[in-house]
Amino acid sequence: MAQSKALLVLENFIGGKFIPCSSYIDSYNPSTGDVYCKVPDSGKEEVEAAVKAAKDAFPIWSSKSPLERSQILNKLADLIEHDLEAFAQAESKDQGKTITFARTVDIPRAAYNFRFFASSILHQVTECTEMATMGCVHYTSRAPVGVAGLISPWNLPLYLLTWKIAPAIACGNTVVAKPSEMTSVTAWMMCKLLEKAGVPHGVVNIVFGTGAKAGEALVCHPDVPLISFTGSTLTAQRITEKSAPHCKRLSLELGGKNPAIIFDDADLSQCIPTTLRSSFANQGEICLCTSRIFVQRGIYSEFLKRFVAEAKKWKTGNPSDPTVDVGALISKEHLEKVRNYVKKAQAEGARVLCGEGVDALDLPLGNQKGYFMLPTVIAEVKDESCCMQEEIFGPVTCVVAFDTEEEVIKRANGVKYGLAATVWSSNVGRIHRVAHRLQSGLVWTNCWLVRDLNLPFGGMKASGIGREGAKDSYEFFTEVKTITIKH
Ligand code: NAD
Repeated sequence: MAQSKALLVLENFIGGKFIPCSSYIDSYNPSTGDVYCKVPDSGKEEVEAAVKAAKDAFPIWSSKSPLERSQILNKLADLIEHDLEAFAQAESKDQGKTITFARTVDIPRAAYNFRFFASSILHQVTECTEMATMGCVHYTSRAPVGVAGLISPWNLPLYLLTWKIAPAIACGNTVVAKPSEMTSVTAWMMCKLLEKAGVPHGVVNIVFGTGAKAGEALVCHPDVPLISFTGSTLTAQRITEKSAPHCKRLSLELGGKNPAIIFDDADLSQCIPTTLRSSFANQGEICLCTSRIFVQRGIYSEFLKRFVAEAKKWKTGNPSDPTVDVGALISKEHLEKVRNYVKKAQAEGARVLCGEGVDALDLPLGNQKGYFMLPTVIAEVKDESCCMQEEIFGPVTCVVAFDTEEEVIKRANGVKYGLAATVWSSNVGRIHRVAHRLQSGLVWTNCWLVRDLNLPFGGMKASGIGREGAKDSYEFFTEVKTITIKH
């Protein structure tokens, strides 16, 4: 660990050692607008060293039994849990999210990711079939692939990075990971725990830096046969192009434009608080956040009135204040982008009912240069408007009315994305019908963000390729072979 003046200076973690970089990128505290951290600006050279370390570590790590790897993953989970508060403080400072969210969601889940795959790797079974007439049995065997390249975004930094590292190493791969250059601190903190957990040198290597330099060097490296990426659809297109000459295996978890469909028989006492969370949790910076709310006409006015009244109660301010619900957005540029969506909606004739441009933002003195925005509800937005078509990824949600089931399914499916949808109704038959017809990798009915990590996670259409989960991640991070034995 290196500390210069008040600035935190991160180092790459390669082959079990912290290694300084020749150049650095500024990293901002989103709640104050100050530079507080220097992140290595790694490129080809650093990625080369990390891939070499990962390759060297592969033979020993891949030959360990699942039980041995499982014990190490559990130990790492213990160590993260032990330091939960320090991790939560760091994540909140680095990302702008509220300390409450970091304490209750990000860091517990990061630890749980290791615990979950420590367990699930012990319970994977391969297939076997018998072909009696030929006197043969066939079975499949699975082996780790090699060095996995893992690239993660800034919205749930340690949570999403560990969701990739845990299954990759549980399966016996070694990894080179590149977190977002905007949120690198908790990944760097985790590196300090690896040795204590018993992770051999070179099994987990973390190279910090930008997507264009460090990310692309990893994507283009010939000795990295698989890339697991979570981020925007645009970046995924670039990664697909760059990796194509190497025929790499890709898992792509991308953006969303998630609908909530609220029928007139919905229980609004459950639906309203949950839809507020699904719209504004983590400043709306979750790929699964709701940004199009379709409400059946009979309850539209009542829903809107109650929803806006509750949205106004969400407190925006200093993320380290435990009473705050909405922290800072990730960057000045991102805040500007999100604000512009609201301006465009207004210019198109939509009504902004609360939040941006309507209500006053009252910030503590120390946070006035931070990247804050109030939860914003927009009504009367046309389906073809950019606010209803593009991923905004901020605390902005659009509410529109619908009449029939048939109509709302068509409108909900009328975007390029297909990640997550939410359906609210007390009619079980309707819930099943609608869930089946939505073009969405995940459908939550009468709830949101309730996850069983065993089951597939991921999107369809422009929201991604592949799924993650106990079986899906196991399959992605292993190479399968079919063996036939004639007896
Ligand atoms: P991003 O695509 O800009 O960046 C994601 C990561 O890719 C970062 O580490 C970045 O440095 C890297 N990167 C950028 N350009 C690259 C390149 N050319 N080659 C290799 N790597 C490159 O996304 P973001 O702004 O960090 O994250 C927000 C996006 O992530 C949103 O679209 C959101 O919906 C999506 N997301 C999806 C999921 C999911 O599970 N489906 C989860 C969280 C976030």
